[in-house]
Amino acid sequence: LGPSLKESTKNISSEFSWTKSNLPKKLFINNEYVDSKHPKKLELHNPKDGSLVANDVSLAGEQDVDAAVAAAEAAFPAWRKTLPNVRRDCMLKLADLIEQNGKALAELTRETLGAPFGSFGSFEINMAAEGFRYFAGWTDKFAGETYPQEDGFLKIVRNEPLGVTCGIIPWNGPLANVGMKAGPALSTGNCFILKPSEKTPFAALALGTLIREAGFPPGVFQVISGDGTTGALLASHMRVRKVSFTGSTSTGRRIQEMAARSNLKRVTLELGGKSPAVVFDDCNLDNAVAWCANAITANTGQVCFAASRVYVQEGIYKEFVAKYKQAMKDKAAAVGDPDAATTTIGPLVDKMQFDRVSGFIERGRSQGNLLVGGEKVGGKGYYVQPTVFENVAHDAEISQEEIFGPVAVLNSFRTEEEIVALANDSEYGLMAGVFTQDVNRAMRLAAELDSGMVGVNCVSMAFLQAPFGGNKQSGIGRENAINALRMFTEPKTVFINLTY
Ligand code: NAD
Repeated sequence: LGPSLKESTKNISSEFSWTKSNLPKKLFINNEYVDSKHPKKLELHNPKDGSLVANDVSLAGEQDVDAAVAAAEAAFPAWRKTLPNVRRDCMLKLADLIEQNGKALAELTRETLGAPFGSFGSFEINMAAEGFRYFAGWTDKFAGETYPQEDGFLKIVRNEPLGVTCGIIPWNGPLANVGMKAGPALSTGNCFILKPSEKTPFAALALGTLIREAGFPPGVFQVISGDGTTGALLASHMRVRKVSFTGSTSTGRRIQEMAARSNLKRVTLELGGKSPAVVFDDCNLDNAVAWCANAITANTGQVCFAASRVYVQEGIYKEFVAKYKQAMKDKAAAVGDPDAATTTIGPLVDKMQFDRVSGFIERGRSQGNLLVGGEKVGGKGYYVQPTVFENVAHDAEISQEEIFGPVAVLNSFRTEEEIVALANDSEYGLMAGVFTQDVNRAMRLAAELDSGMVGVNCVSMAFLQAPFGGNKQSGIGRENAINALRMFTEPKTVFINLTY
């Protein structure tokens, strides 16, 4: 998922020795770990066998959210005026600390997400560390702009931070999402409250120790664990000025409603997807097969931009099917215990997700031809085989709905016109892939596909340097690149009268 990220794997080491027992399972407010005022605790399970991992993780209630917001408000006036190089240095230090403690952080996440270190586990650490580094570089480069003064008025635009901002994140990227959200928020002088998913809060809780060591002043960067009720308290809070959300489309819709009903806080939504990969006769077949197989199995298919609809032009269909089937069988062989060094595909996150994905697979048997997979793996734990259904009607449930597991639908097509219409006929519009060696065709499709991102001879990619996000019901706004900075600032225009 990006060459620059892959290269930094070598820096990941382990300094702290958190474990699920010694990890502070409290709220990180004002640079201190404090007890939640709410009596309820979160219960976490290990997806490799369903065993209980913890039942004492804090859930932030109303008083706790108010305390975090008050601390952020108190910290904001000084933080926004802190010299950019000081903000930069805190962020760079945090990135180093994340890397230095990467193994321990990845192990904590593996306990509840089941992501093997050799694949998604290390990607997560890189993405978080590189996210803070990337946005650290922007601290002194996004102050604003000026416009012509020939009419006697100099116009200056100041890009100002919003104040108290928050990030509500899902379980499928418990650390990857942090740099993408906290990075641009802190870089532009906002205070930031992180609300991790109730299913995977460990790495975020550990971050408190690193935030303090990195030198962030109290109240600037806080972490409060909790469930949807905690998220709703933040999204509807009158003194939170921005919520950056990643998660399901249904929750995203509710967040926007809460934002509208409270204080019209700014909202960025990164939601679901049903991304198409379109494979033309003239493509490099092996390249297309490899990308399509990786894209639906990385993180056990629990990736918002996974290419879950594969369309192959009829001239190479048979050949593609043979190779794709084999590639998915090879992927099935890589499914296993996430703690084992050789495993690259772990279990689904929990029983709820396992039941949901299994339900799609069962119903899919009557919606298409099961080409490969379709079975549970092992006696315990939430493992499924990478699965492909062939010849599935366009309006079938498995063609339309986001499954969020290693399940793809595969169909053939004839013409470019036909496939653009089919690919675009989805409520989602996050990512699309086009496999062809014809540059004109690639550019035509890049223009015509209705999605936030289009990969040519690749799919399911993210880079910090390029906008990330979706069209239609895949979201609102963009993360990464300069676009993320715009989402965390308000342009203030100053007119200077030069005519007297
Ligand atoms: P989810 O919507 O259930 O939960 C996401 C977060 O929102 C969690 O922290 C949760 O506690 C919180 N939440 C739940 N209800 C809430 C409410 N009423 N108010 C405020 N916050 C609330 O999503 P999930 O199951 O954790 O994640 C899976 C979904 O995320 C998938 O649909 C996937 O496509 C999407 N996703 C999108 C992207 C993207 O960038 N587009 C990336 C990753 C995941």
